[in-house]
Amino acid sequence: MAFIVQKFGGSSVANAERIRRVAGIIADTYVDDNDVVVVLSAQGDTTDDLIEKAKEINPNPSKREMDMLLSTGEQMSVALMAMALEKMGLPVVSLTGWQIGLSTNSEYGSARIKKIAGDRIRTELDRRRIVLVAGFQGINKYDDITTLGRGGSDTTAVAIAAAMHADLCQIYTDVEGVFTSDPRKVPNARKLDEITYDEMLELASLGAQVLHNRSVEMAKRYGVNLEVLSSFERKPGTKVKEVTKKVEQTKISGIAKDTNVARIAVMGLKDVPGIAFKVFQVMAKKKINVDIILQSIGRGDTQDISFTVPQSDTETARAALLEAQEAIGFSDLSVDESVAKVSIVGAGMMTSSGIAALMFEALYDAKVNIQMISTSEIKVSVLVDEKDADRAVTAIHSKFFD
Ligand code: ADP
Ligand code: ASP
Ligand code: MG
Repeated sequence: MAFIVQKFGGSSVANAERIRRVAGIIADTYVDDNDVVVVLSAQGDTTDDLIEKAKEINPNPSKREMDMLLSTGEQMSVALMAMALEKMGLPVVSLTGWQIGLSTNSEYGSARIKKIAGDRIRTELDRRRIVLVAGFQGINKYDDITTLGRGGSDTTAVAIAAAMHADLCQIYTDVEGVFTSDPRKVPNARKLDEITYDEMLELASLGAQVLHNRSVEMAKRYGVNLEVLSSFERKPGTKVKEVTKKVEQTKISGIAKDTNVARIAVMGLKDVPGIAFKVFQVMAKKKINVDIILQSIGRGDTQDISFTVPQSDTETARAALLEAQEAIGFSDLSVDESVAKVSIVGAGMMTSSGIAALMFEALYDAKVNIQMISTSEIKVSVLVDEKDADRAVTAIHSKFFD
């Protein structure tokens, strides 16, 4: 007997037939004498459709009302799944975020989980019920509904597994596990049997949407036994853990692409101490995450500073910089959203040299121009033209894995 948390994503519960299939997986786990908590996402494109619906009414709705709306998708899923399990004669209860006491901060649209009061879930499990929880949602100190950011149901699942000391957290999705690159874009991508938390965290943060990055962060912090697997085929998936045994001598674990980036260039800055501080202080005040940074010599005795920000923050960044133009002292500002970040990730980079060079060689062979570069112990990222990004990923993938 084990305590298992299972999460099923939107495509896994997209229609009645898929709900029945997933109900079968849940039922098998339950009749094997396990405690089962199931977290569900909204069906198929429901969340996107709700966003569209909102836009029809008001292009600029408050974030509170957006969360009120978006949280309904997950509620539908758990109720429907409960009905499917009821029909199979199994004891089941569906619960919302507030019913399980999942409290968050008040950042509507990207709230962070503060605590999960596990008592309701515990009581239901003790009654031998299957517990279905609506993912992606919580409640803040005002008793208002919040959501955790796109893809956030993964984080709901890992948070429950961590808070309640589950033996295993399984993330069921529409691919067989974590691959060396997005298997829908790179046909030769290979499934990984295992990957470390650190590598997975980098991949997720750098654009591999298979896991919500906060879910990986939390899994690492609490040592959650995490597994990514397919809800369509009953096969072993990918284990995400602290250390992996390197069976295969691959230099990197994976390649990710992120198109949600913009490049901002602040030009004609004075070349004196304190300028970078002034520029990035403005970004910090707006809580904008700055990633790749490039400082270069400008015309005359000036300097330019370029950096990347999430595309969703472009307007805020531009406005804040223009407002501070006089205080910072720059002549021009340019913003380019037609860029993408392509990254390679692998713990092996720490001990093996020449990996970045291999990546650059692949880009050279594919005639892809590199605009910016950044590296850390376990990753190398390059900024390229958005239209070159898929070609870049494929070329790098062949270089490392073929
Ligand atoms: P879910 O609805 O189950 O949460 P997501 O769409 O959020 O599913 O995540 C699964 C998708 O992530 C896959 O369909 C795949 O296209 C994409 N993906 C991107 N990078 C990777 C990767 N390295 N390994 C596996 N899947 C990836
Ligand atoms: N339904 C939400 C989304 O589409 C949360 C999730 O699927 O994890 O982003
Ligand atoms: Mg997802």
